[in-house]
Amino acid sequence: MVRFFLYALAALLTLAVVGYFTVAAPIADGRFNQVGGTVEGPVSERARAVHDTLMVADLHNDLLLWPRDPLARYDRGHTDVPRLREGGVGLQVFAAVTQVPTGRSYQGTDADALDQIPFLVAAQRWPPRTWTSRLHRALYQAQKLRRAVDRDDQLSIIRTRDDLARVRERRRAQPDVMGTLLAVEGLHALEGDAANVDRLVDAGYRMMSLTHLHDNALGGSSTGLEKGGLTEFGADVLTRLQKHNVTIGLAHASEALIDDVLARTTEPVVVSHTGVRATCDSPRNLSDRHIEAIAEQGGVIGIGIWESALCGDTPAATAHAMRHVADLVGVEHVALGTDFDGTVSVPFDATGLPHLTDALLDAGFSPDEVRQIMSGNVRRVLGRTLPDES
Ligand SMILES: [Zn+2]
Repeated sequence: MVRFFLYALAALLTLAVVGYFTVAAPIADGRFNQVGGTVEGPVSERARAVHDTLMVADLHNDLLLWPRDPLARYDRGHTDVPRLREGGVGLQVFAAVTQVPTGRSYQGTDADALDQIPFLVAAQRWPPRTWTSRLHRALYQAQKLRRAVDRDDQLSIIRTRDDLARVRERRRAQPDVMGTLLAVEGLHALEGDAANVDRLVDAGYRMMSLTHLHDNALGGSSTGLEKGGLTEFGADVLTRLQKHNVTIGLAHASEALIDDVLARTTEPVVVSHTGVRATCDSPRNLSDRHIEAIAEQGGVIGIGIWESALCGDTPAATAHAMRHVADLVGVEHVALGTDFDGTVSVPFDATGLPHLTDALLDAGFSPDEVRQIMSGNVRRVLGRTLPDES
């Protein structure tokens, strides 16, 4: 009897371990990255015609964190390369997430709370050093993208201005050509060592935001507990980023940190994925004062498509926030930053992007303005901030 009980227990434990290393991550993927908004009717013929001319540039996507081969097509989550291509995306920024504290919220996220990422990456059987090292989580995500690029002739990683120009040029003849750009979401990935900036740059990273969901050694997060400004270490790192021509991201930065970074930069900055307080009042979203300051410096503001950034779950809600920024500072500062696969709920997966073009036309933007928002503004800024050569 005792022996039977022990065998049963061992069998159950084995099943639990096998389950954890096989199905747990895909289940989490499907649960956290849902399509759940409201999209009305088919896309209009007019919008379809405009959308077909676009090389859509999306400033933020977290695909690399999830158990999906970027080149395969899935029916869960928001994106993969086939679906991005179908949605007209020609330039995709992929961000590396390296820490997500348990119990996070827009009201205040504790940096010391249990990190969920080790459980997610171990379940995907990432190399053991990624289980304990945030730096290695970022390096591994870059490697994942490089391996995908190696298997697809029309996919590339943009490291320089020339790379960007080449993608644009090749895409004129081949609509499947897609350039990607690597970004880090929060420089706690440096693990306290500014010299690790060089390792991330070597791995291909060209855009970095200082903070993510929680305050870190560089400065405050918009959803952190203290929400402070730039620290001395943050200032050191910023100098290093500037030396490497890394594009500075300000999504998730506290108000004090935005002020401090803008005071120390002259190049355009990017807010890769955000909402605006004027249409959705949340600490995670940008104030009009900061929209003006970022525009003043030539930057772009990537408006998201997820519910809690917009206080709405429709493409029209994104168009409404974009309209606010355009009316306040000019359409040349508006961009798209979906936050696809960023543990958010969105109204459509990547194949549904024509719905957004439709909503922008409905909001009164001209086809030329739609081209600026969905593509041209990001290319203009990256054309200025990317290094000349790697
Ligand atoms: Zn984010």
